Amino acid sequence: MSRSTQYIVVGQGIGGTMVSYFLHKAGLDFVVIDPALPSNASRVAGGVINPVTGKKLAKSWRIDELHPFALKIYQEIGDLLGKELVLQTRVHRYHSNPEDATKFDEQAETQDWFDNYILPLQINEPAINNTLGGFTISPALKIYGEELMDGWRAFLIQNGCFLEATFDHSQLETLASSIRYKDIEAQKVIFCEGWGVQHNPWFKDLPFNAAKGEALIVKIVGLLPAEVYLKGVFLVPLGNNLYYIGSTNEWVFTDDKPSAHKLEELERKLQKVLINLPYELIAHKAAVRPAVKNRRPLIGPHPEHNQLWLFNGLGTKGYSLSPFFANQMVAALQDQGNLDAEILLSRSR
Ligand SMILES: Cc1cc2nc3c(=O)[nH]c(=O)nc-3n(C[C@H](O)[C@H](O)[C@H](O)COP(=O)(O)OP(=O)(O)OC[C@H]3O[C@@H](n4cnc5c(N)ncnc54)[C@H](O)[C@@H]3O)c2cc1C
Repeated sequence: MSRSTQYIVVGQGIGGTMVSYFLHKAGLDFVVIDPALPSNASRVAGGVINPVTGKKLAKSWRIDELHPFALKIYQEIGDLLGKELVLQTRVHRYHSNPEDATKFDEQAETQDWFDNYILPLQINEPAINNTLGGFTISPALKIYGEELMDGWRAFLIQNGCFLEATFDHSQLETLASSIRYKDIEAQKVIFCEGWGVQHNPWFKDLPFNAAKGEALIVKIVGLLPAEVYLKGVFLVPLGNNLYYIGSTNEWVFTDDKPSAHKLEELERKLQKVLINLPYELIAHKAAVRPAVKNRRPLIGPHPEHNQLWLFNGLGTKGYSLSPFFANQMVAALQDQGNLDAEILLSRSR
């Protein structure tokens, strides 16, 4: 039976979830196509929104706008789905070496935003190896991504707008101002495929710089309170004494599967952090981040086919970037606003 709709959304990671949420909110008609695999980057992610990151202690790009907007939207979707999707938390970051402490002093002296996000260390957790001191980053968020994506998929299924399938690019026909995909006619397709973009003939040649990442789920009893700790690796609370331990980065890789060498690296780092507190390994996960050379998302229409749009390049920060930019993109689709020049994919051609 043929079907007519305004938008086809390809992929339901955090990108496709946010795009379809804003289409729904705007009262637009759409169908989401995703194979519902047990893993994707959004399900392997720590789901942390951390305003100050990296060795250089840099403030995240546009975090002053992204953080409050993300908090509002995750709470709004949580209310709709009847689920608690956000933990408002802090990141207790312990220096790993003397250079970290020097960098901290340097940033504290020169960056005018520092006092908005950095506090003296709020928790001296006795189970954490903390000989060099540290500081606390606040506010931060932990998003429960799997609960969000499972809940949103159930909502889509209930509303008849989810198709469990892999989108076959060879079956897409571009018509004068619309598209046909198998028995579906739509005005536009929005590709939110994450690293699946490597198989997309229209967008695969954009300047992606994909990075494989791995993480562990462990059980640690006695680490209090349940907030985020960082010393070489993140320890992110998942509830019931479970912690997410992550993550690694690899730019040269042959598959997206968990590897023995990264398991060893993560366990070694975790053992360095915890003092006299045992842990039990529960799971080991891996996925590929759809990162971009200049670390900005890639969003907007194909230069020759205005019916084909991309929402990708979320890199290491999909949970903070996707609510804000999905909202912006859905407004642009309705001619109610423009996409920021920095995220336009035309910037890279
Ligand atoms: C180890 C690790 C830790 C991370 N930690 C964080 C973190 O703490 N905070 C943060 O903000 N970000 C984090 N990230 C980054 C984050 O995971 C990504 O930015 C984000 O998940 C990208 O979302 P996406 O929807 O673009 O891609 P994905 O989550 O990969 O989703 C793409 C979806 O599209 C589907 N798809 C692909 N091709 C097709 C097709 N042809 N037809 C139909 N469906 C298709 C896939 O099956 C998948 O479901 C982390 C990533 C990793 C790997």
